[in-house]
Amino acid sequence: MIIQWIRLKEISEKILFEAISQRLAVSLHGSTDIDGGLRAAVDRSGSSVNIVLNLLYNKSLPDVFASIAHELAHVTLGTSDHPFAHDIETRRVSDRLREEYEKGGDLPASEAERRPPAGVDGDRGSTRPGGPNPEVSGSRPRRSIPKKKGRR
Ligand SMILES: [Zn+2]
Repeated sequence: MIIQWIRLKEISEKILFEAISQRLAVSLHGSTDIDGGLRAAVDRSGSSVNIVLNLLYNKSLPDVFASIAHELAHVTLGTSDHPFAHDIETRRVSDRLREEYEKGGDLPASEAERRPPAGVDGDRGSTRPGGPNPEVSGSRPRRSIPKKKGRR
């Protein structure tokens, strides 16, 4: 089963907007190197919200719903504490997340969970909403292989 990450990101942004009427940009990150048994963490600065998921503990969609909901609830409540209200809010956000994720329509099919690009190393697939159609961009001949060495 695949996890539609961009969809989760977009739904997260929608949920935040519903909750606090601010357009925040959510970025989801995965890490294999989070210490201390944390499932996930969140940092908001200005209009950016970064959620890091510990890949050790986020292997299934239910794991991911739970982690993202927990972190979003910190943002909607504006606190990093865990009062009872945070539990309630996590539940609400989790239900909302699942509902939106499962209803499938509505949100831009900005990813349609694209197939990965043919190459792996240094070969970027477009992850932008409205980016090039993968079928088209995938068939475009590649050019511009840098000749110079020792530069990146
Ligand atoms: Zn927490």
